[in-house]
Amino acid sequence: MKLLDGITYAHEHITIDLSGPKKDEDCKLDTIDETIKELKELKLKGVSNIIDVTNRGMGRNIKYLTKVKEETGINILSSTGYYKSPFFPQEVYKLNIKQLAHIMFMEITEGIDNSGIKAEVIGEIGTSKDYIVPEEEKVFRSSSLVHVETGKPIVTHTTLGTLGLEQIKIFKEYGVNLDKVVISHVDLSGDLDYILRLIDKGVNVAFDTIGKIKYQPESVRVNLLKELINRGLSEKIVLSMDITRKSHLKYLNGLGYSYLLDKFVILLRNGGISEADIDNMLKNNAHRIYA
Ligand SMILES: [Zn+2]
Repeated sequence: MKLLDGITYAHEHITIDLSGPKKDEDCKLDTIDETIKELKELKLKGVSNIIDVTNRGMGRNIKYLTKVKEETGINILSSTGYYKSPFFPQEVYKLNIKQLAHIMFMEITEGIDNSGIKAEVIGEIGTSKDYIVPEEEKVFRSSSLVHVETGKPIVTHTTLGTLGLEQIKIFKEYGVNLDKVVISHVDLSGDLDYILRLIDKGVNVAFDTIGKIKYQPESVRVNLLKELINRGLSEKIVLSMDITRKSHLKYLNGLGYSYLLDKFVILLRNGGISEADIDNMLKNNAHRIYA
């Protein structure tokens, strides 16, 4: 699928439900009217595409997504795959690598839940903090097989930014095109050398927890971005907010989706980052990675 011209939010969940395992109703983002309201505003600010990385077991809902797409005019890409332990559906425990790959392959080639809407992205597929459980490794192997077959981009989840190098090691076994891989949440690592090592392998990285200052102050994100951009790496970075909770939205006094454009981009400009580099991160790179 071709992306529309304009800004792309690289890692979001239009609707998501992790409230079961997290035992927190806030993690059920089912506020469609509030979401539509915010995304209409986002469209006016130049956002044309959103990569929705909600997949099997995360409360993905294609009808909901289609309504939001229609009401807002934003192009929303859907995903296939499996998130991470303990959010896996039973099939991840029961089926083998090839069987899981087949399910994902069918969602890409035939569509999701008989909707006719095809998955455009494999993600977000994740690893736990400091270790990879066997089921997570199985999903990384299945995803690699499906990528090689279809060429679809892979978006990973890293827990607090960790284990990106280990994720890449699995992809390399299968000959995955690392320029079609995005390692997510690396801003939470706070570790410039580590992020440089990831990019050096050939992958892209996502600074996609923008606004989550309880994990990381924005000054750390801005400084990391400045260091990366000074090394000429703005073509390997994408940005997003990873909104997953009701309380992230404006109606509950959260920052809302527009914070990235209204506030964070100003911090980048004040930090001396050029418009061309900002355009790479918000607009240009997405066409190469996701299209
Ligand atoms: Zn994630």
